[in-house]
Amino acid sequence: MDHAKLKLDELNRLSVEEFKNTPKADIIFVLDNIRSAQNIGSIFRTSDAFNISAICITGISATPPNKEMLKTALGSTESVDWKYYPEALQCVRELKASGYTIISVEQTANSTKLHEFTPQKKGKYALVMGNEVEGVDQQIINESDIILEIPQFGTKHSLNVAVSAGMVLWDVYQKMFLGR
Ligand code: SAH
Repeated sequence: MDHAKLKLDELNRLSVEEFKNTPKADIIFVLDNIRSAQNIGSIFRTSDAFNISAICITGISATPPNKEMLKTALGSTESVDWKYYPEALQCVRELKASGYTIISVEQTANSTKLHEFTPQKKGKYALVMGNEVEGVDQQIINESDIILEIPQFGTKHSLNVAVSAGMVLWDVYQKMFLGR
């Protein structure tokens, strides 16, 4: 069997212009005061891969263009739409008013475990990712429709925020769009 690794031009990726004109998955990331620009860049790269609608960047989080972000975003800050909100809570309330189901990705007492979550195939989801130290703001958690937690089985109490974003986006995306 031929398992030759694909060259860049064999991957058949979209140009930025084609990407902008492609229908988007109705999923939005809300970054609640994420302090590391490299984490934000990494979330941009994953958001590009799954063709999601937008990233809402809030509070203390850096916005593009940013040198640190560039290292991990590798150009995806040009393809994925983003908007800055001074207040994460305000952003969440606006998304809720526009019909988004608010999902806080966090570890809480009565969370839904990621593998037990079944998204609506035509749902509109806002995925809120929390600050590296504080996590998702408690008021946002209180106003969320769902809290999704990735179960962990090791010694560390939490995962890196960009890694968590990737795991949740892949899981939700494949359940919504890859028809199983
Ligand atoms: N609250 C954590 C720190 C936040 S980790 C603590 O007390 O250590 C940064 C962010 O990564 C979280 O807000 C959440 O969005 C995400 N995250 C990390 N581990 C997670 C897990 N196991 N399940 C869901 N989200 C997680």
